Amino acid sequence: MYVKKKYRRLLDLTNQQFIIPNSFQKFIEEKEKLHNLVIKSKNNQCWCTYCSNEFTSKIRVNNVVKCPNCKQKLLVKSDRLTKYSFKDNLQLLDKIEYTFVLRTFELYSSYDGSKMKHSITEFMRTFIEDGEANDFVSNNVSNHMGYMYVQHYSNNKGWHGRNHRWAYRDVTGMVSPYNIKSLLKNTDLKYSQLDKFIAKTDYIDFIYYFNLAHYPIFEMLVKMKLYNLIRDASKFYGGKNFQEIFGLPKTYYPFMKKHNINYEQLKVLRLLKKEDIRLINKLVGFHNLEELSRYVDLETAYYKVLRKNKYHEHEYLDYLEMAVMLGYDIKDKKILYPINLMEEHDKLTNLIQEIEDEANDRLIKERLKELNKISYQDKNYVLFPANSVASLFYESKILNHCVKTYAKRYSLGKTTILFLRDKADREKPLVTVEVKDNKIIQARAKNNANPSDEQWKFLEKWKKKVLDKQLLSV
Ligand SMILES: [Zn+2]
Repeated sequence: MYVKKKYRRLLDLTNQQFIIPNSFQKFIEEKEKLHNLVIKSKNNQCWCTYCSNEFTSKIRVNNVVKCPNCKQKLLVKSDRLTKYSFKDNLQLLDKIEYTFVLRTFELYSSYDGSKMKHSITEFMRTFIEDGEANDFVSNNVSNHMGYMYVQHYSNNKGWHGRNHRWAYRDVTGMVSPYNIKSLLKNTDLKYSQLDKFIAKTDYIDFIYYFNLAHYPIFEMLVKMKLYNLIRDASKFYGGKNFQEIFGLPKTYYPFMKKHNINYEQLKVLRLLKKEDIRLINKLVGFHNLEELSRYVDLETAYYKVLRKNKYHEHEYLDYLEMAVMLGYDIKDKKILYPINLMEEHDKLTNLIQEIEDEANDRLIKERLKELNKISYQDKNYVLFPANSVASLFYESKILNHCVKTYAKRYSLGKTTILFLRDKADREKPLVTVEVKDNKIIQARAKNNANPSDEQWKFLEKWKKKVLDKQLLSV
């Protein structure tokens, strides 16, 4: 694959100059330590693949036990196990000339029934420049069913551009923190505290945080040990003091630090203003808290309503808005925190619908004084304006179309609905007609079918004789 000249040169330089620093070797060894097992045989005999210590323990297979010798907490497996493996991505930040390069390695450890073997292979180099990342992978990388697969026992024959069809676009890893500070010396990130942040994290998308580290808030959040807020550092818009930055008085800081709260939790804390991490975590999943908090106390709302109506928070908000619209006393706790939310919600919905229908009916009655003038009949058919909301619903039901949704527009005079019916059977819906700006916009029979030729002829005759001569606008 074609590689830009600039990167070709830099890649060649990395091949000449890059080494594995001692600090990264130390990092690898730390992670290798975790890639071990405790093998259990009969009579509770246990054996640690890391330090070879033998000990007895009643711990069951597939649980974790602490080796009494090396103090590693390790997964327990049966001695019948013949194959087990661990994989982790380890990353090393490096630099060539003035360009930062993130080097990604796979640590692969395999147990074959007798011992644990570790292998480390560098398979990707990512050049980071001006917020952009360019990945280059080695021939060790192959595509296995859409997933990246790293082959460990073949030589690196060079680097080529990343194939975007493959699924390893979001390679994350554990980044070695040991060399970051010295690498950032004399760069614009020298005060960013990125090294301290890296030391506190596990798997991350390093490029994302490397870019974030340019925000001044990054340094502050690390110093404050609010590590989990850093993912959303770009959502803080500055501010001169704690209150302005976090939207809370500074008295909340020890609580925020103790629970290392994230941005979702912070948003809830801002509304709740209560140091109750359990309740905060319960509320994090809800989406309408800010709107709800205008009406209710969130703690009471959670325990009395939201807890048992997890998927109906929107209906709760809807219910509260309707209660306000209907003039209910929203200081009354029985109104604010209904025992049966959905029942109350439906009750108010119907009530509002009835009120709306009544209002629409009054407006339609008013319109009819004019609209009755365009009623028409010949020897077969009659045509007359819809005379109520209920008549629209009936028309919709019998003809199986959606004219009932026109009630409001019709009552407000934004459009006009007429019913065409057989003269011999005036009660039975046949064709519904919409008129706007003195034109027939649509005419629909049952199931939205077109009217018959005969019915169209009648409508055309009506238009010519009545509608075109009307001075009123309908
Ligand atoms: Zn051990």
